[in-house]
Amino acid sequence: MRENILYNKDGHVVMTFNDLVTGEGIQSNQLAIFNHGHSALFDPGGDLTYMPLTMSVNKFVKTKDIDFIFATHQDPDIVSSFDKWLMYSDAKIVISKLWHRFIPHLVPGYMKEKLEGRIIPIPDQGMDFKLGNATIKALPAHFLHSVGNFHFYDTTSKILFSGDVGASLVDNDAHLPVDDFRKHLPNMLGFHKRYMVSNKVCRLWVNMVRHLNVEMIVPQHGKPFAGHDMIEEFLRWFEQLECGIDNLHESHYSVP
Ligand code: FE
Repeated sequence: MRENILYNKDGHVVMTFNDLVTGEGIQSNQLAIFNHGHSALFDPGGDLTYMPLTMSVNKFVKTKDIDFIFATHQDPDIVSSFDKWLMYSDAKIVISKLWHRFIPHLVPGYMKEKLEGRIIPIPDQGMDFKLGNATIKALPAHFLHSVGNFHFYDTTSKILFSGDVGASLVDNDAHLPVDDFRKHLPNMLGFHKRYMVSNKVCRLWVNMVRHLNVEMIVPQHGKPFAGHDMIEEFLRWFEQLECGIDNLHESHYSVP
């Protein structure tokens, strides 16, 4: 359990935890941002990561004092620990307005009052959040892959947390940035072709990201993309990717 510091300047710290999932679960990255006594976690994970993540985060902040838990979308490896975060912290949970109504399904009846005013639904167009003196932008990433999907951009570190976009399956060294894009491609190609909905949304997303000054893209699984050249290589690949419904034909819908 080791934190990986991505940015540390003037009281603003960004880190990932890359090795908390062991055994059956798929490797995942939990991102944390700290700013002058305020803190946020991004895609904290499910039951598998709750204990090791709280132990790791508690080196920097008490669970009770965490301000926000941000979720890119509703998958179990992101939200299934939310009952515990609601129970043991006072954090607000931030998730697409398409999914916020589903969160109460994770919470047993005796915890009803713990839910009161705790879930912030993000409107489709996205919004800004203040974390201390930092700004976190919730950026629309719908259909990449979830119907109500957001990525989170920290304007201070210029790190973009991209959920499943750019996600890869790697055996080790998930904290080390991709150094050879072509070699790395097989680790993410199949997943993106099947899970991303269509090339149209890939292009729309890339156009939006090009309006930002991004120094690092950190996906929820696998290696980050760091530096202008590598990020540009990733964006050029992603904007021309045919995926999801682009590759579906009548034969995919025959009665088995
Ligand atoms: Fe997912």
